[in-house]
Amino acid sequence: MKLVSSFALLFLCLVLFPRDGVAQNSAPAAASVSQATPAPTTAYTLPPDKLAKATALYHLGSKLRIIGVVYSLLILLAILHLGIAARYRDWAEKVGRNRFFQALVFVPLLMLTISVLELPLNAYRHSIGLQYGLSVQGWGSWFRDLLVGEGISLAVATVAIWGLTKLIRKSPQRWWFHFWWISTIFVVLYISVAPIAIDPLFNKFEPLDKSNPQLVDAIEKVTQRGGLSIPRDRMFLMKASEKVTTLNAYVTGFGPSKRVVVWDTTIQKASTAETLFVFGHEMGHYVLNHIVIGITASAVGLFFGFYILYRLSGWAFARFQNRWHMRELSDWTAVPMLMLIFSIMSIVSQPIDSTFSRQLEHNADVYGLEVTHGINADSQEAGAHGFQVLGELSLSYPDPSQLVVFWYYDHPPISDRVRFAHEYDPWSKGEAPKYVK
Ligand SMILES: [Zn+2]
Repeated sequence: MKLVSSFALLFLCLVLFPRDGVAQNSAPAAASVSQATPAPTTAYTLPPDKLAKATALYHLGSKLRIIGVVYSLLILLAILHLGIAARYRDWAEKVGRNRFFQALVFVPLLMLTISVLELPLNAYRHSIGLQYGLSVQGWGSWFRDLLVGEGISLAVATVAIWGLTKLIRKSPQRWWFHFWWISTIFVVLYISVAPIAIDPLFNKFEPLDKSNPQLVDAIEKVTQRGGLSIPRDRMFLMKASEKVTTLNAYVTGFGPSKRVVVWDTTIQKASTAETLFVFGHEMGHYVLNHIVIGITASAVGLFFGFYILYRLSGWAFARFQNRWHMRELSDWTAVPMLMLIFSIMSIVSQPIDSTFSRQLEHNADVYGLEVTHGINADSQEAGAHGFQVLGELSLSYPDPSQLVVFWYYDHPPISDRVRFAHEYDPWSKGEAPKYVK
């Protein structure tokens, strides 16, 4: 799924795997969670059995990440080097001169080849989730989600790749710029419709007000404290418990589809004070405009990214034209090469992405602590213990290496978040809170 096309990839990052949730996207353990204890939560700690599991999972995850990246690059290299792309191009050209009809043959062949080759690794990842109790999703349901995701990726990638090759053909010097602004418009449109059209394909949503009106009442105190009202019908409950055991909430959508989503697992496994803190964190993303900031940052990053892609693709085309049977850069055969270059660029730029995301998440943590201050009896403890619960359920490793955090973590490590929540107290020091005065 990662190697779709530059802009489908951006879609997937932004939409299918919302990064603005309170949790890291690692699923959870079916564990009993201790209720808030009288002793304050000063640090993130795990009992020995969970620590052993979290440690094993951390090391396994690190290995799988590297294997996954190398393997996906090797797949693209093989497709180019073994003449598979050239053969698919020849088949596509048999349908006639119409480029869109050719795309309808070439892109699905290419994408399905990649997906089939990546299937064993993806299935292994899911089996790990099941084995560690992070996921409770059966294989049938998992496979169905995979197929639905594949269908969406195929539709997006077919249009994107058709458009890209057309632009390269029409505007050999400026295609990167045109592809950039068109992609950006599509990303905004996609984010606007995804909560309504795409997300319900994977999970069930219902108005939070319907099942948890008291919680919505409590939440309204929080939104009033923040001086901003999020309409009740913009708050949704997601039935995550059918698939995972961890807790989370997120903000998604754009314009009329902008909304806050709380997983039902959060309400089941966290106290009301902790749920309010989680909501406060998500509200931080909402009122601090993190979606718009994220889209803007992506657009800026892609502007440079597509320009670099343009320069590198010129070089790579000249270098590998004969070996990979490419007739010109707009040839279908060059598509996997463009994907390969873009993938390498994504790996290299990952730390920028992660660092940016960690900063936004930290800001949302600050906001969540501030907006629940005076509503939760002990807002710092609700935050700190909320993170403790989250970490236990997700089997978050307490002591990740700084390099791994720098490169991959889109949220601050859970130990840092617990400590920060426990210590953040501008009020007793007579300092001004950062966001909620
Ligand atoms: Zn967040």
